[in-house]
Amino acid sequence: MAKVVPPISCAFVLDIDMLVTELMHNILEDYCKRFKTNITGEHERIVFCGFDGHNGSWKGMTTLADNGTIHVQIQDPWLMNYDSNPFTVQFAVTVLVHEMIHVCQFLTNNKGFKAKIPFDKMDDDEAYYFDPTEMQAYMLENLYMTKYGKALREYGQDF
Ligand SMILES: [Zn+2]
Repeated sequence: MAKVVPPISCAFVLDIDMLVTELMHNILEDYCKRFKTNITGEHERIVFCGFDGHNGSWKGMTTLADNGTIHVQIQDPWLMNYDSNPFTVQFAVTVLVHEMIHVCQFLTNNKGFKAKIPFDKMDDDEAYYFDPTEMQAYMLENLYMTKYGKALREYGQDF
């Protein structure tokens, strides 16, 4: 990689900082190889945190702050006292992986997939799911969750 991966901070109920950091590194390495790209620009830090999503409609969100910090927020099932069954844990890891793909997009300035598929731009749901960055993230999330998320899934199921 041309530039080093920014430092990663985590704030989750479970002690998963190392696993989340490793997952981010693995996904970024795969992403850069697959799309023959590299980290561009200056990024201060990547911050991952869980939130109690009981009142929200969104599962995860990745934003780029003015100072170059990339903020990732995901619904944390352990914060919401959900039963840690394999289904819940796999869903949570998939959401995290989806947001990590958005992190890769920010880090490499990749704009996602352009496809000539007609959709209704005035429809919020269609505009969201046909957004090039979302199409790429939804396409890769299950691959990366299966390929790199095993350690985090297994750890999460024990709680
Ligand atoms: Zn997304």
